[in-house]
Amino acid sequence: MSGQRKRFVIIGGGPGGTACATYAARMGAEVTLIEKDIVGGAAHLLDCIPSKAMIATGGAMSMMSRAAEMGLATVEVQLDFDALRQRIKGIEEHLEQSVTELLESQGVRLIEGAGRLTGPNTVAVACADGTSLDLEADVIVLSTGSRPRIPDWAPVDGERVLTTRHAYPPPELPTHLIVIGSGVTGVEFVNMFSSFGSDVTLVVSRNQVLPGKDPEVAKVLEASFLERGVKLVMGARAQSIETEDGVVTVHCDDGRVLTGSHVLLAIGSMPNSENLGLDEAGVNRKWGYVEVDHNMKSSVAHIYAAGDLSGKLPLSSVASSQGRKIAEHAMGLHAGPHRHLDYDKAASAIFTDPEIADVGLAEADAFAEGRKIRVTKVPFSVSAKALINNDSRGFVKIVSDPATGEVLGGSIVGRHAAELISVISLAITASLTVTDLAESLFVHPALSGVLGEAAE
Ligand SMILES: Cc1cc2nc3c(=O)[nH]c(=O)nc-3n(C[C@H](O)[C@H](O)[C@H](O)COP(=O)(O)OP(=O)(O)OC[C@H]3O[C@@H](n4cnc5c(N)ncnc54)[C@H](O)[C@@H]3O)c2cc1C
Repeated sequence: MSGQRKRFVIIGGGPGGTACATYAARMGAEVTLIEKDIVGGAAHLLDCIPSKAMIATGGAMSMMSRAAEMGLATVEVQLDFDALRQRIKGIEEHLEQSVTELLESQGVRLIEGAGRLTGPNTVAVACADGTSLDLEADVIVLSTGSRPRIPDWAPVDGERVLTTRHAYPPPELPTHLIVIGSGVTGVEFVNMFSSFGSDVTLVVSRNQVLPGKDPEVAKVLEASFLERGVKLVMGARAQSIETEDGVVTVHCDDGRVLTGSHVLLAIGSMPNSENLGLDEAGVNRKWGYVEVDHNMKSSVAHIYAAGDLSGKLPLSSVASSQGRKIAEHAMGLHAGPHRHLDYDKAASAIFTDPEIADVGLAEADAFAEGRKIRVTKVPFSVSAKALINNDSRGFVKIVSDPATGEVLGGSIVGRHAAELISVISLAITASLTVTDLAESLFVHPALSGVLGEAAE
């Protein structure tokens, strides 16, 4: 190997694969990236970006419908699905082009096709132009992502019974959408379609939306859904779906029967690990995900997995951080345990109205662990900027160590929560204390002032 450039072959060009490719190439590796669909990945084409683009359009509609409260004449707003489709396409094309340009500028070789391991150091590519290629590699990175889980009782047809991937936007605006699944994806779609004016029913299998999240946070969202007229069907699991004459019927396990015009499934995802040649290369998997260690290394020393396929936190931000860490590790630049990714410190957001974001230790988890914490909570209603924005919903909550004042976690519900959480995120990464936050001179009037107050 000495004197020779390390050869990386990366299968899958989502955030995990493209980040790894960029960093490895920057560090001097010879990098080939195989992507069968779109550079930027499902994140850009099918999941993260198009859903957020639709949510932004729904948010604009909601704001305009409250124009009179801002001192404007009432504005008549109408959704234009064709214009929305064009808008999403424009964003996707722009992102694909900028990621492709970045990769090419670093000298990454892009191959359009489907990759598959044929041994521990070899990858076969069925190229989009009908030819095939055999590649040899010193390092292989698997980053093929995931897809929506479809249970066998759900007759998905892309017309009436949809997964999230049929919804950008769907063939027509549902008059009554039944969303099955109240996790992050489910509630984002409820929010989106209720903003567009659809009637929405949400099937919630537990006793709160967003199972596992802070109940106080979930309550704010439930209240906002009820205010918008969303029907919450609590404690029920869908177990069959029928479609007849444009009506979908969902049967729940407790005997409840729901009818609507469309159903959207948001009940988790499955790894894209079939047909990847994992067995041929001796790569172990668990529940279909590639089993990885803290360096994202699989059971084969030079084969790594990044992103959703690694079975860790399924977030674009995590996928790209993993990709970068893999590049560093495989190039021998990994400098000790402190450089490992700490998934417990990953910030995440839910793009509903109001937005929800959290990071680090949750109050409920600390309580369950019997850990002593200090929790401070300040509502946005104290903020002048929230009043100016005509939106005082929500709060900032900061979890800290009562002995040292170190910031351990936080949640924010309210406008721009996804941006504001970065302050708490940085405080956690940098081991700052609540005093550090409280003494920061934030802008006034700004929503960030509430962060300072919550830290006092
Ligand atoms: C509706 C929805 C909304 C989301 N919103 C957010 C959000 O707001 N924020 C956030 O951080 N995360 C969000 N996520 C999660 C995020 O989209 C994923 O975590 C992210 O896409 C994972 O990136 P990845 O690199 O693992 O793979 P992906 O983005 O899934 O990309 C994998 C790529 O691999 C390619 N591929 C697959 N098999 C092969 C093969 N054999 N050969 C060649 N190429 C192959 C695919 O074509 C695809 O382009 C959302 C997910 C969903 C479903």
